[in-house]
Amino acid sequence: MENRKLLEVKDLVVHFDTFQGAVQAVRGVSWYLKEKETVAIVGESGCGKTVSIQTVIGLNPRKNGSVRGGEVLFEGKDLLALTQKEMREYQGNQLSIIFQDPFTFLNPTMTVGEQIMEPYLLHSRASRQEARARALEILRLISLPNPEETMKRYPHQLSGGMRQRVMVAMALICDPKILFADEPTTALDVTIQAQIMELMNGLKEKLNTSIVLITHDMGVVANMAERIYVMYAGKIVEHGDAETVFHHPKHPYTWGLLGSVPRLDERIQSELYSIPGTPPDLIAPPKGCAFAARCRYAKQICRKCEPPRIGFEEPEHYAYCWLNHPECIRRNGVTVREEE
Ligand code: SF4
Repeated sequence: MENRKLLEVKDLVVHFDTFQGAVQAVRGVSWYLKEKETVAIVGESGCGKTVSIQTVIGLNPRKNGSVRGGEVLFEGKDLLALTQKEMREYQGNQLSIIFQDPFTFLNPTMTVGEQIMEPYLLHSRASRQEARARALEILRLISLPNPEETMKRYPHQLSGGMRQRVMVAMALICDPKILFADEPTTALDVTIQAQIMELMNGLKEKLNTSIVLITHDMGVVANMAERIYVMYAGKIVEHGDAETVFHHPKHPYTWGLLGSVPRLDERIQSELYSIPGTPPDLIAPPKGCAFAARCRYAKQICRKCEPPRIGFEEPEHYAYCWLNHPECIRRNGVTVREEE
């Protein structure tokens, strides 16, 4: 039996007011997550991926940020309709997050034990003794050496990898239904990166938690996600199951992201590709395709009209790019990439 949808984001629009005008950070984004599934949202800095998930868990600054439209359905309930107080029941409890830089997130004046216990004490009626037992249980689960000693330490006394494991422990202590991981390994070296990703994968199986992974790095996604959403300039530009997106990508931006990942199966490493230019100004997004200024395949129509959503043979695989339009394929005989 297929797993049901746990979280569904529908047509989400988020703006931030600035002196120059409203930054349209998220422009009508829709995605979903099923039970026990890992989904990755991939894109460069500033594409709106972090804003999307912070909106889902109610962490966006309400002072200048505003949700202009959409729904966030968690087990059928619209989280956007909840008050801040009601939302706090979910934060760190059913919906948990791991941030990019644990050193910034962790409180330097508290021992890591206190910090791991804090969400458990807040969301359960447990005594300090029970919270301590639960914290030790989680530290053992994530294979942190010498958990009793680690509980007494301060963040600065731990290595980068251990600090990130502490963040994982804090995020998991309340047994969340969804774990959001926002660039969880960017601040770590590659060996520790691999260990943290392996750890998260293992914990997902043990704890039945679903994961939303936010990253700019397709390499991180490769062994982890079942489905991928590629995001650019506040919109989803391609979606499909991981295998299809890796082997049959249909959007030039996805090609660029994949081209910037080193290949271990190549004996002579070719030069890594870097996408030229910078993302557009989201105070005044371009009229047609937002990627046109950086796209080597851009045509006249790309600058005038937004590309429509075009689906492919694989179920649920779609992309927003004029190259996949039947008329464009008819003229070229094949899609542009196949021609090269
Ligand atoms: Fe490039 Fe045009 Fe496709 Fe946009 S719609 S990605 S500009 S080819």
